[in-house]
Amino acid sequence: MFALTGIGKLVTNDPIHDSGLLGVITDAALVADESGRITWVGKQQDLTSHTDIRPIDVGGRCVIPGFVDSHTHLVFAGDRAEEFEARMAGRPYSAGGIRTTMTATRGASDDALRANVARLAAEALASGTTTIEVKSGYGLSTPDEERSLVAARTATTETTFLGAHVVPPGVNADDYVAEVTGPMLEACAPHARWIDVFCDRGAFDVDQAREILRAGAAKGLDMRMHANQLQHGGGVALGVELGVASCDHCTHLADTDIEALASTSGSTVATLLPTAELCTRSPFPNARRLIDAGVTVALASDCNPGSSYTTSMPLAISLGVISMHMTCDEALWAATAGGAKALRREDVGSLKPGSRADLVVLNAASHIHLAYRPGVAQIGAVVREGRVVAGSL
Ligand SMILES: [Zn+2]
Repeated sequence: MFALTGIGKLVTNDPIHDSGLLGVITDAALVADESGRITWVGKQQDLTSHTDIRPIDVGGRCVIPGFVDSHTHLVFAGDRAEEFEARMAGRPYSAGGIRTTMTATRGASDDALRANVARLAAEALASGTTTIEVKSGYGLSTPDEERSLVAARTATTETTFLGAHVVPPGVNADDYVAEVTGPMLEACAPHARWIDVFCDRGAFDVDQAREILRAGAAKGLDMRMHANQLQHGGGVALGVELGVASCDHCTHLADTDIEALASTSGSTVATLLPTAELCTRSPFPNARRLIDAGVTVALASDCNPGSSYTTSMPLAISLGVISMHMTCDEALWAATAGGAKALRREDVGSLKPGSRADLVVLNAASHIHLAYRPGVAQIGAVVREGRVVAGSL
C-alpha cells in the first residue's frame, strides 16, 4: 500500500475529472492498496480521509499512467545493424529482411531467446512501459513459433501468434498457410492470447489473412493485424469486417478505410507505429486525418530488429506530436489509454479506482515535456502493480 502526494499534474485518462482528454487533476494525490490496485485519486487536500499511511511526496512532478505498448516483436536473435546501415545509405526496405532474423532465431537456444525478451522488456519497463504485447513471428516453423511464444510468455500475458509474418523461404505459400492454420496454430494457441497476420505486399494477401485470422478465432484467440503499412490494400477493410481489436500501421489509407475504422466506434483501433516510418524513412501515417474522422488511435513501438529497433514510447509520442500533428494530449492518450483499447484491457492505461497502479513519475512538471524534449530520459520512477520497478520515488 502506498500514497503519492505533491503531484503537480496527475493524468488519469478518466474524463470525470476535467473537460479534456486526459482527465488531469492538479495538486493531486493517489492511493493504492497492497494488491497493487488504485483505491483513490483526487486533490491532495482531500487525501487525509482516504489513508493513514505516510505518503511519498513527488515534489510537484507530473504522474501519468504507465505506457501500454500494444505492438512489439521482442522474440528474436541477432540484429540487423548492417541492413540498417545499408538502408540508410540508400537501399529500400522490404519485408524480406525478416528472413535474416528467422535464420538467427531458429539457431538460438530457448535460453538465448528468453534472455533477449527479458533484456528488451526490461529496457521498455525502464522507459515507462508497464504493459507490453509481444509477438512471435521469427520462427516460421511449428516448433520455432511455439518456443517463441513460450519465451514471450515469460515477459507478458499479452502474447500474439504471428506465424503469418512472412512465408519462409523455400515453402509454397498455400502449404505455409495450411501449416499456420493447422499444426502451427494447434501448437501455439495454448501460449497465445492473440492471432496476428502481416497483410501486405511481400507477405499475405487479403484472402490468406482472412483464413488465418478466422482459424485463430475458431481456436479462441482474439484477432489483431498488420495492415496497410507498405501500400494501399484491403487489410484495414478486412480488419473491420472481422472486428479485429486493432489494425496496426495504417500508413496507406483510402478514405473508405478511415470511414470503416470510424464506423467501429473504437472497437477496432488504428495503432500507429511512427518509429517504423522514422527508421525506414517512410511517410508517416496521417494521424490527424484519422482522429478528426473519429477513429480511435493508439501509438506503439513496433520494436523489432529490422524496421524499428526501439522500445521507447516517449519517442513514439514525440513523433506523434512533431511529425504526425497529434496534440500533446492526444499522443499521450494514444500511448496509454489507446494502447489499452487496442489490447481490449480495462484495467490498464488509466489511473482510477480499480485500475492497476501502473504509473510513471516524470522528471518534469507536465506531460508536454515528453514530446517537447525528444530523446531525453525523463522517467523518474516506474511503478507496476503498486511496486517501484525502475528508478526511485
Ligand atoms: Zn509489427
